[in-house]
Amino acid sequence: MHEMALAEGMLQIVEDAARDNAAARVSAIWLEIGTLAQVERAALRFCFDAVSRGGVADGARLEIIDVSGAAWCMPCGERVALVAFGEACPRCGSYQLQVVSGTEMRIREIAVE
Ligand SMILES: [Zn+2]
Repeated sequence: MHEMALAEGMLQIVEDAARDNAAARVSAIWLEIGTLAQVERAALRFCFDAVSRGGVADGARLEIIDVSGAAWCMPCGERVALVAFGEACPRCGSYQLQVVSGTEMRIREIAVE
């Protein structure tokens, strides 16, 4: 389960940001996760709750924002939606796709008190 490692990485960023802002508590975190990223949302929430316990981000609300997958289709010469890896271009059916969005996971915003 790599969600534990992701949660620990997230907590590190959140704690650093809280320290930089001299915040006593982190109340909410907005996290962007690509729909193509191999991240189990429920597992990530569970892991983050576990690693943040007792710290500055204990009890913080975790808002997950889905970033839709997109790819560049060579034959179409344009950006197309991609629901999952291995799917064909929804326009022309080609598999000559280069994923351009949807695999990332990043913290967009943190609310502190
Ligand atoms: Zn295409």
